[in-house]
Amino acid sequence: MLEQVPVKPRSIKDYKGIVDDELIDEVYFYAKKITDLRILHINATKFGGGVAEILNNYIPLLQDLWVGTVWQTIIADDRLFEVTKAFHNGLQGKKSLIGHDQKRTYERFNAYNAQLLEGDWDIVVVHDPQPLAIPYYLENNQTKWLWRCHIDASDADTAVWDYLNPFLKEFDGAIFSLESFIPDNFPIKKRFIVHPAIDPLSEKNKKIEPNLAASIIKSHGLDKNNPIITQVSRFDPWKDPLGVIEAYRIAKKRIPKLQLALIGSMATDDPESWKIYQQIINISKHDKNIFVFTNLGDLDINAFQGYSDLVLQKSIKEGFGLTVSEAMWKENLVIGGDTGGIRLQIIDGETGFLVNSIEECGEKIIEILSSPKSKEKIVVKAKEHVRKDFLIPRLLRDELKIYTELLEK
Ligand code: UDP
Repeated sequence: MLEQVPVKPRSIKDYKGIVDDELIDEVYFYAKKITDLRILHINATKFGGGVAEILNNYIPLLQDLWVGTVWQTIIADDRLFEVTKAFHNGLQGKKSLIGHDQKRTYERFNAYNAQLLEGDWDIVVVHDPQPLAIPYYLENNQTKWLWRCHIDASDADTAVWDYLNPFLKEFDGAIFSLESFIPDNFPIKKRFIVHPAIDPLSEKNKKIEPNLAASIIKSHGLDKNNPIITQVSRFDPWKDPLGVIEAYRIAKKRIPKLQLALIGSMATDDPESWKIYQQIINISKHDKNIFVFTNLGDLDINAFQGYSDLVLQKSIKEGFGLTVSEAMWKENLVIGGDTGGIRLQIIDGETGFLVNSIEECGEKIIEILSSPKSKEKIVVKAKEHVRKDFLIPRLLRDELKIYTELLEK
């Protein structure tokens, strides 16, 4: 059997008063249509990164609505994840050479996981490339297969697409985060667009008092009396942590007491993160104002996102970037890379700022920290933008709607 991930129960009722009532009504409306369904979500890891974050928040809400939903992760190790990280990078536009051995590894792990799949499911949602080939190794049955792509694949390397193409043909539908992410000649005909979302009631995003946040930040060695900028991200080249350090160095020339917190997780399906972590440590070890953390708890992240003076998400490519909405929801100002899903969340100058280079990022940090009052209006607007569009009940509504549509025919 694949590994079943336990989740903490949640109730959709608790979101009343946070999101609009009509949205909650719509959630119930679509859930009622499919109460008896058995839905399985499969991904690569139960920890680290946005997919695990979303599933952790989303699955218990589906269960609360009596939609029989289960979350399972594949059985795999670094042999597969080395290959699938190369796929991930290829889908994001990096030229990739996928050799014969890598293909064999991918196919063997997927065939093995297909054998481990148990139970009868009405819908199986497969997240990202790691488990994508599973349906290829199964007999045709009544199950509807959905591929959920969280990656900006608009500029994908053709070698990776060509290789994945026969596996993709097994799917009945695909969900992307943005229309523009769908590559040319994508083989799945039914396509849906769903923006990701954050959970306002999770430990990471719930409201915490300034005193508690200050004591958490202090306990990690930072001085709350001097400015703090933070980026929370997997240690991944696309998140540009090294660019963040350079931007910090530009700003530090004008703001000598500036501190930088780089908070990164080591997702089990991302073997590249240790290499990037080592690079970060090498270039930052002589600066006592750069703080690098791995795998902090959700409450710690909550404190840093809410009570740093500024939050960065300086990605070069980004499927969505939950961390942007997480900080905006806490009424903090975010400077984000001008790319992919970050553009949905940050309307430049209105709900945050978009930057296209390290220099621009450094200058923006200086500008914002030099006039903290200027951020007051922006953060209020940013929070409302998240409330309306990027909270989990909206995601739930959108996906329930897709499930009903998929089964209608
Ligand atoms: N995250 C975390 N700890 C870390 C780094 C990231 O819990 O040290 C979380 C972060 O708060 C967010 C998710 O992992 O909820 C990352 O999602 P995002 O969409 O920003 O990026 P992804 O990792 O999916 O590319």
